[in-house]
Amino acid sequence: MGALLLGTAHGFGIVPAMRPSSVMLQQRAASSAISMEATGPVCIVTGGSRGLGRAIALALGSEGCKVVVNYASSAGAAEAVVEEIKGLGGDGIAVQADMSSMDGIKALFKATAEAYDEPVGVLVNNAGITRDTLAMRMKEAQWMDVIQTNLNGVFFASQAAQKVMMKARKGRIVNIASVVGKIGNVGQANYAAAKGGVIAMTMTMAKECATRGVTVNAVAPGFIASDMTGELPEAVVTEVMKNIPCGRFGQPEEVAGLVKYLALDPSALYITGHCINIDGGIGIGTC
Ligand code: NAP
Repeated sequence: MGALLLGTAHGFGIVPAMRPSSVMLQQRAASSAISMEATGPVCIVTGGSRGLGRAIALALGSEGCKVVVNYASSAGAAEAVVEEIKGLGGDGIAVQADMSSMDGIKALFKATAEAYDEPVGVLVNNAGITRDTLAMRMKEAQWMDVIQTNLNGVFFASQAAQKVMMKARKGRIVNIASVVGKIGNVGQANYAAAKGGVIAMTMTMAKECATRGVTVNAVAPGFIASDMTGELPEAVVTEVMKNIPCGRFGQPEEVAGLVKYLALDPSALYITGHCINIDGGIGIGTC
């Protein structure tokens, strides 16, 4: 898709050119020249170095967005995503920041504001972890780590984004929840609680932001092929597969397509506060 079309296709209008600040230039140390085609909004994708986040970052980048690819420790992978985005006609920077900490969240938004001379248009809260075990065996740290990253991190990142978006009177927040937050899953009391909380938070924030042109939605993937599900024992995969009507795991690119729609499509401006399943049918009846 050409740059001229992008101004009308992503629903954010033509945006001002970015200002290459010193911070941005440092973060681009390993990167090539600024893309001239990146006319889409500034999009933060937390946990954009691998799995679903990587696919989402690439999908947004391919629409000419300026994508802030956040990561925890995979610097090389995040830089590679940025290079791919530039090859697709978008622009991007990689920013290391821990989404389980307030300092990390503040640093991410500071780096974004220094890199791009326009407000954040899209936040995709994707970073997430699992610490699976049965509830009766779950250690305090296993509970706390998952809640801190998958729930508290989403709240505070969304709060930071809302301040910018509500002032600009436009913006879209897409939270990556999980079908587990709707139907539960053995060994994932911490994860289910966090994702269920994200779904409830999505509804509330959507109501609070609606009159300011800001939408807040969630997607609830089922089992998607990634490093996270790659850790599952074969026996668990066999059992899970019996309950997926489509008979397969989803692909990150399939989730990315839905997120891209909610984040950029003009018609998605009238969708807010919803959590849309993308799960091969495992959660039929829970939409
Ligand atoms: P993944 O392959 O394990 O990738 C996780 C990503 O999150 C990585 O980019 C990782 O960065 C980043 N991350 C983790 N902790 C972070 C932190 N504290 N701060 C910043 N970044 C952090 O996971 P995935 O399968 O793609 O899952 C992505 C999201 O989708 C998660 O929220 C997950 O709960 C959700 N989800 C996944 C599935 C599934 O079946 N895969 C299903 C439903 C929902 P590094 O590379 O630097 O470690």
